[in-house]
Amino acid sequence: MQFAPLVEPGPALSGPERSRYARHTRLPEIGEVGQRRLAAARVLVVGAGGLGSPALTYLAAAGVGTIGVIDDDVVEVSNLHRQPVHGESDLGRPKVDSAMDRVRQINPYVRIVAHRQRFAADSARRLAADYDLVVDGADNFATRYLVTDACALAGIPHVWASINTFAGQLSVWWAGHGPCYRCVFPEPPPPGSVASCAEAGVLGVLPGVMGALQAAEAIKLITGTGTPAVGRIILHDALAGTWEEVPVRARPDCALCGSEPTILQVHEPAAAPPVPVVSAAAVRRVLGGSGVTVLDVREASEFVEGRIEPSVHVPLGDLLAGQGADLVDRWRATGERVVVYCRSGSRSADAVRYLLDEGVDVAESLDGGIIAWTGLSV
Ligand SMILES: [Zn+2]
Repeated sequence: MQFAPLVEPGPALSGPERSRYARHTRLPEIGEVGQRRLAAARVLVVGAGGLGSPALTYLAAAGVGTIGVIDDDVVEVSNLHRQPVHGESDLGRPKVDSAMDRVRQINPYVRIVAHRQRFAADSARRLAADYDLVVDGADNFATRYLVTDACALAGIPHVWASINTFAGQLSVWWAGHGPCYRCVFPEPPPPGSVASCAEAGVLGVLPGVMGALQAAEAIKLITGTGTPAVGRIILHDALAGTWEEVPVRARPDCALCGSEPTILQVHEPAAAPPVPVVSAAAVRRVLGGSGVTVLDVREASEFVEGRIEPSVHVPLGDLLAGQGADLVDRWRATGERVVVYCRSGSRSADAVRYLLDEGVDVAESLDGGIIAWTGLSV
């Protein structure tokens, strides 16, 4: 399905701009008018990370006139294998600053607006209203749902991608023109049930592929070129080297874009209640003693960061799916103390909530996870 161009053309191109964009304007599908639409366009990129790196780079090179970038992180060494908008000399700098420097180097005709903050509910609608479309490079479900709600309520399209290990997905969500993200994924998954890239790992080039594709979809929407990925999810398997697509439909009963919506504002997701925690020092004192079991809920691939011995291993996803039922039954029966750990303390907190719900008497989360235990830096 084709759509009208999202953006009206800006003023005529200058001589230097004509030279810069000559290979674009030669394409009849874009032409000089399409290039003027790009120059007048305002695109917000959420996250200056793996997906944001290529999206920002190619949107800037393509001459998108105003590019906003929102991120509250600083550059860490573990980012560099998949986030080439940042370099070695940017370590410790805010990601929006190094992204802004890079974009300015690529194209001086682009105005870049840096928002050094989290994409939060209180500013989400105002931010969305300042842009023609949003490229979502968020790496977490909370932000993804905030972006979804803000875009649908503002009536603008939302170019989404997500990546994990070797698999990528992409779609253009656009309430009123096709499904929104909530039509297909109504609610966030339970906390901890889906491993993040930090936990499961990711092929460094994969966000490059998917983020560049997001930039292509954004350019198509702005200029009204081709067939945007509205109403379908494009799936890429980098290991197999395959591309597939799954059609998806708007749901009339969608809480966000259906005929009787119940989501009328952007809200922060409810915070999970706190859980009992225990320090690494306190665990060292009781480790190996009777009546104490240490439970590791990380993925096996994370053992390289160290392990606590003795411990039992049940990955969080398996635990929540009931695969540790024998252990849970034993702990419930004996009343022994269960200390749960993961990498940094987030998944273990979810596991503790689950165990307490299941009737285990004493379950605690190791504060700071294996990082605190081994003194590793993040
Ligand atoms: Zn919907």
